[in-house]
Amino acid sequence: MLPRHDTSGWIRRTGEYVSLCLAGAGLCLSLSRWWCAALGPSWQTPVLFVCGVATADFLSGLLHWFADTWGSAAMPLLGRRVLHPFRVHHANPADILDRGFVDLNGDVALVTAPVLATTLWIPFDADWGAAAWQYLMSICTAGLFTNQIHQWAHSPTPPRLVRFLQTCRLILRPQMHCSHHNAPYDSHYCITTGWCNPVLEKLGFFVRLEHLITTLTGQQPRHDDRSFSTARSV
Ligand SMILES: [Zn+2]
Ligand SMILES: [Zn+2]
Repeated sequence: MLPRHDTSGWIRRTGEYVSLCLAGAGLCLSLSRWWCAALGPSWQTPVLFVCGVATADFLSGLLHWFADTWGSAAMPLLGRRVLHPFRVHHANPADILDRGFVDLNGDVALVTAPVLATTLWIPFDADWGAAAWQYLMSICTAGLFTNQIHQWAHSPTPPRLVRFLQTCRLILRPQMHCSHHNAPYDSHYCITTGWCNPVLEKLGFFVRLEHLITTLTGQQPRHDDRSFSTARSV
């Protein structure tokens, strides 16, 4: 029988709702602050937006790589809560389609909310203020949708607008994400837009990082992921 994601208890579900509410409020408050300051867009806006979205994509890859590659699902605290879903997702990719909106996006909202709170305190009268705000808001806005975009990449019937955005390569394409879902799951980690994947693969970014970590710590990459898959297939 294929493994499945853990269902949320009421405490965890409440935390997911609160995280989503905080992130949504942070987004609205920060946008209204920008609006009230009457700053508007500048020639830098599209550049900062693209850089912010690319950064969100890179961060999604870094977190995904870390969770896939290191640690154990049996670890206290982080293991069951953070790493186990990644092990399940490799063994049973379609399981993500059974996750509801709150369950799917609550954790990302929890990580994004503090960054959105920071954008509320950026001084617009400083030389760097407007640029920093636009860059951080682009990261947060794209980052908030990462897990949702990941789920859409697995969906056989995503909404028409989503299909359009996938075709335009503005969000992760299913074809690109397929490249990750080949054992040993060691490439194409970026799951927001997928823009960084070709560059990082060309540079051998994660392979080099793994060599460095193995040299420094003696830990073997994907040891736990392999054990999880082997245990399931026996
Ligand atoms: Zn993975
Ligand atoms: Zn996936």
